[in-house]
Amino acid sequence: MSTRTLVVVGHGMAGHRLVEEVLAGDRDGGWRIVVLAEEPRPAYDRVALSSLLAGASAGDLALAGPDVLGDPRLRIRLRSPVTGVDRAAGTVTCADGSVVGYDALVLATGSRPFVPPVPGRELPGCFVYRTVEDIDAIRAAARPGRDAVVVGGGLLGLEAAGGLRRLGMRPHVVEMAPWLMAQQIDAGGGRVLARAIARLGVRVHCSTVLRGVEAGADGRAARVSLDDGTVLDAPLVVFSAGVRPRDDLAAPAGLARAERGGFLVDRWCRTADERIWAIGECAAVEGRCHGLAAPGLRMAETVARQLLGMAGEAFPGADTSARLKLLGVDVAGFGDAHARTGGAIEYVREDRRAGTYAKVVLARDGRTLLGGVLAGDTRAYPVLRALTGRELTAPPDALLTGAAAGS
Ligand SMILES: Cc1cc2nc3c(=O)[nH]c(=O)nc-3n(C[C@H](O)[C@H](O)[C@H](O)COP(=O)(O)OP(=O)(O)OC[C@H]3O[C@@H](n4cnc5c(N)ncnc54)[C@H](O)[C@@H]3O)c2cc1C
Repeated sequence: MSTRTLVVVGHGMAGHRLVEEVLAGDRDGGWRIVVLAEEPRPAYDRVALSSLLAGASAGDLALAGPDVLGDPRLRIRLRSPVTGVDRAAGTVTCADGSVVGYDALVLATGSRPFVPPVPGRELPGCFVYRTVEDIDAIRAAARPGRDAVVVGGGLLGLEAAGGLRRLGMRPHVVEMAPWLMAQQIDAGGGRVLARAIARLGVRVHCSTVLRGVEAGADGRAARVSLDDGTVLDAPLVVFSAGVRPRDDLAAPAGLARAERGGFLVDRWCRTADERIWAIGECAAVEGRCHGLAAPGLRMAETVARQLLGMAGEAFPGADTSARLKLLGVDVAGFGDAHARTGGAIEYVREDRRAGTYAKVVLARDGRTLLGGVLAGDTRAYPVLRALTGRELTAPPDALLTGAAAGS
């Protein structure tokens, strides 16, 4: 059997999972794999990036072991961003002008942080939080004892705030929504989260947006102004206001993009070109992008099975539930956390003194669990998540108490 060439663009979490799966399953040596990677190092565990601020080294995060890196079927070209795809010729072009032919092409280019177009966003002292290099630059610029500003109060923004705290800085978090982590949890959960992180010295500014970053006499970021008139002195600003799929290769190659960005692919992660797939955060599966690691890994597995000619399932969709320990505060959101289903009934239990909040969302029938939010105490999460979509086995209160007690 002749060997075919699989080109993977991007060596991030999804691209690497694809490589691992194809190498492991390709017993006849049917594929030669060329990975074209923009970053200066092979794939690493981006989810664990903040551990670099707690003493881990970039090497500790490496995903590829020597067995994979040394596999003769694999060639990884670092610092080789792909700049174009010629579908008719079946080739990609790299920034250095080199051209690589493919039989199958998988785009795994991830996302880029969204930086709102405010004045001063390019000043020295302004950062994003996505790569090992970003974290190194933040660490080098940190000024212990001084204030810092994180723009964005979602999952990543709070993680960045935790990182800045670890560097001895005093973070402020600026969030446009009325509460933190508004995508995952409701207002009640957000209140508990805000109180708990305020106790840690993180100051939260919700329902306002960044107006601009101003420079000091040294030309570096010195202060930020917010829409509500607040001015914060801060020599360090981290933008963490969401991500955008990196789909720049689509239009010149004549590949479709989804309405809100991302390479448009079907449930098999395939573009309209049968030789080209997209996986991970850059892929809009049936029009929808997924900004978490696990769905991207499932996509990689789906595509690997197709490349190996194995029967397999389409991308099964993603579970967006999340249980997090942010800055030492437990929060979880699962299923229809915002009670958006028509006729949904919300059952809430809040203990302000203990700093806990629990909400379950029930269907109109009052029995079927649709989702919920837990903050301050997430011990009920495994039980409730397993019951999501099913009829409750006990009244909500008993379930919350029982599950929390570990029964
Ligand atoms: C600090 C942090 C914490 C996170 N925590 C969590 C978490 O707790 N849970 C969770 O599920 N997710 C988390 N995430 C998100 C998770 O890291 C991403 O969902 C995941 O990395 C996406 O994988 P990917 O392969 O699609 O993209 P990436 O891992 O971003 O990889 C894409 C790669 O493609 C490269 N690339 C882009 N364009 C080109 C090009 N033209 N040519 C060559 N290479 C290119 C990029 O440089 C990058 O190396 C976190 C992210 C960050 C930054």
